Amino acid sequence: MYTRNREKETRAMKRIPIAILGATGAVGQRMIQLLQGHPWFEIAVLTGSDRTVGRPYGELVNWVLDGAPPAHVANMIVQPTDTVDASVAIALSALPTAAAQQYEPLWAAHTAVCSNASAYRMTTDVPLIIPEVNPDHVHLIDVQRRIRGWRGALVTNPNCSVIGMAMALKPLHDTLGIQQVNVATLQAVSGAGYPGVASLDILDNIIPNIGNGTEEEKIESEPGKILAKLHHDALVTASFAVSAQVTRVPVIDGHTALLSIQTERKLGIDDIERIYTSYQAPQQVRELPSSPERALVIHHAADRPQPRRDRDAGGGMSVSVGRIRPCPINDIRMVVLSHNTIRGAAGGAILNAELLVATGYANN
Ligand code: NAP
Repeated sequence: MYTRNREKETRAMKRIPIAILGATGAVGQRMIQLLQGHPWFEIAVLTGSDRTVGRPYGELVNWVLDGAPPAHVANMIVQPTDTVDASVAIALSALPTAAAQQYEPLWAAHTAVCSNASAYRMTTDVPLIIPEVNPDHVHLIDVQRRIRGWRGALVTNPNCSVIGMAMALKPLHDTLGIQQVNVATLQAVSGAGYPGVASLDILDNIIPNIGNGTEEEKIESEPGKILAKLHHDALVTASFAVSAQVTRVPVIDGHTALLSIQTERKLGIDDIERIYTSYQAPQQVRELPSSPERALVIHHAADRPQPRRDRDAGGGMSVSVGRIRPCPINDIRMVVLSHNTIRGAAGGAILNAELLVATGYANN
């Protein structure tokens, strides 16, 4: 994954030690997998719960990805999450919400924490970042440090369905403005972590509820913060309404979102296609090691994107957009697909960590 841009690798002088909080879970494992051969980061600390602390990672982990954990990681002893190791410059958090609420501030007092958890996503002084969409929100860290007296920082990445959706909305938000969005999601089982949903519930089935309504709340609230404008040290939320309906489907990886969007200004579908095909992430973000060559991959075939065929686009970091067409109720509709444990979780947190390094906020 990291051999594409040799010049990115040469920026690395000495690799930066990082911790993974909640390293044994589905997202923690993905972080370990994605960090193999990373040009800037090396894994220095793995943490877990009382269930796993003090034991070698390789002996206790139920590795759900292909292959096995790398040998040097397998030999590492799992450390307690409540004890901060201030020698690491960055902590990637794959903790469940309650543990994140408790432990992330402890680490953020000393080091830069990039979290997948929802615990602090909507907290006013905590940036909710997708580097291609709102890299300037990192400057909220200055406010955070002033308020909390931290040397480190806490940034979050969005809910796994919101990441793909917000990346797909960004070109329209910038050019036409967005008035409202209706979204229905078809979410993969890996989004529920391991062991996740019982096979007898999900095989041959679709479940129209995730998290007892909390998933829909996240999809309705997070895009406004992500697409907010940073104005005088505060975010001015983008004010469009989102109506979300979510389902869990028998797909292993890859969340699909079916979007119908009403824009403020109107344009014909050919112009909208052009907006999408010419969209590029900011230069500074494109140079980050985990940044895909194309943030958005635009499909023209009527039957794409599909999870099995398209989730690994850009090493799982690209978002696939297809079926861009007029909508008889709103203005435009489209199908959006993103890899939920890579772009939607582990890869998103790693990209955020790279952004913090590039902008000088991971400065231990
Ligand atoms: P998971 O498979 O259940 O893993 C949870 C991890 O947290 C395990 O390493 C576990 O360690 C550790 N942990 C649990 N309770 C703990 C405690 N009290 N103290 C310390 N460590 C504790 O969950 P996941 O799917 O990887 O998700 C991790 C986070 O990412 C969640 O907040 C989730 O909402 C978010 N997220 C997940 C996805 C996805 O696609 N799966 C996408 C976006 C965001 P032990 O094994 O030692 O118990």
